[in-house]
Amino acid sequence: MINIKNIRKSYQTGSTRLEVLKGIDLQIEKGELVSIMGSSGSGKSTLLNILGILDDYDDGAYHLDGTFIDKSLSQKQAAMFRNQFIGFVFQSFNLLNFKSAWENVALPLYYQKIDRREREAIAKDYLDRVGIRDWADHLPNQLSGGQQQRVAIARALITKPKVILADEPTGALDSVTSSEVMNLFKTVNDEGITVVIVTHEEDIADKSKRIIRLKDGLIEKEQTV
Ligand code: ADP
Ligand code: MG
Repeated sequence: MINIKNIRKSYQTGSTRLEVLKGIDLQIEKGELVSIMGSSGSGKSTLLNILGILDDYDDGAYHLDGTFIDKSLSQKQAAMFRNQFIGFVFQSFNLLNFKSAWENVALPLYYQKIDRREREAIAKDYLDRVGIRDWADHLPNQLSGGQQQRVAIARALITKPKVILADEPTGALDSVTSSEVMNLFKTVNDEGITVVIVTHEEDIADKSKRIIRLKDGLIEKEQTV
């Protein structure tokens, strides 16, 4: 599903050049549930953003579901591939505060020009799947952190992505809620969707099937759980 070879990425700030990824090789098969771990600054988000075509890479090769993802795609091509393949979940949920839960979930369908009545029905079905159908008309600030993350996961799923990429999705949640959210990712994965989660919590990573550890811009270690 994900196949990267010798991926390199550096950032230039002023006169200093920071090499963040120094040649990453990684293969993730369809249906895997993988965690990426590593200390702060080790390049986890950079790697995930490249996998999610939110950021470009400097060198190497990236194939996503057999499609070559060029390092110099136009914004439009990148957006097209993202919509086709990927659902994102972030630590801070990234919900629109003035939209209800179902409207947040339905947002990707708006861009697909599906009419409002149908968007609402589909979005509520996805809220049902993540266990918060009854909260459909609530605004994000009327929901707990765990509920907000469930809304974000429903929004990520609604475009039927092949891969879910989650950057520290439990980073803002207490441990009980984190565990529940991780179980939801496991359910999503059981339905055949490939899931890649960045986390620095061992107990979260232990619920995945494979752990990839980054250090100093390289894969230090891989383990099967
Ligand atoms: P992690 O997610 O593992 O904490 P990141 O991938 O966010 O690490 O960052 C890796 C390194 O790259 C850090 O030193 C960070 O400061 C730097 N970095 C990340 N994004 C940028 C950017 N857009 N410009 C400059 N430096 C960046
Ligand atoms: Mg990060």
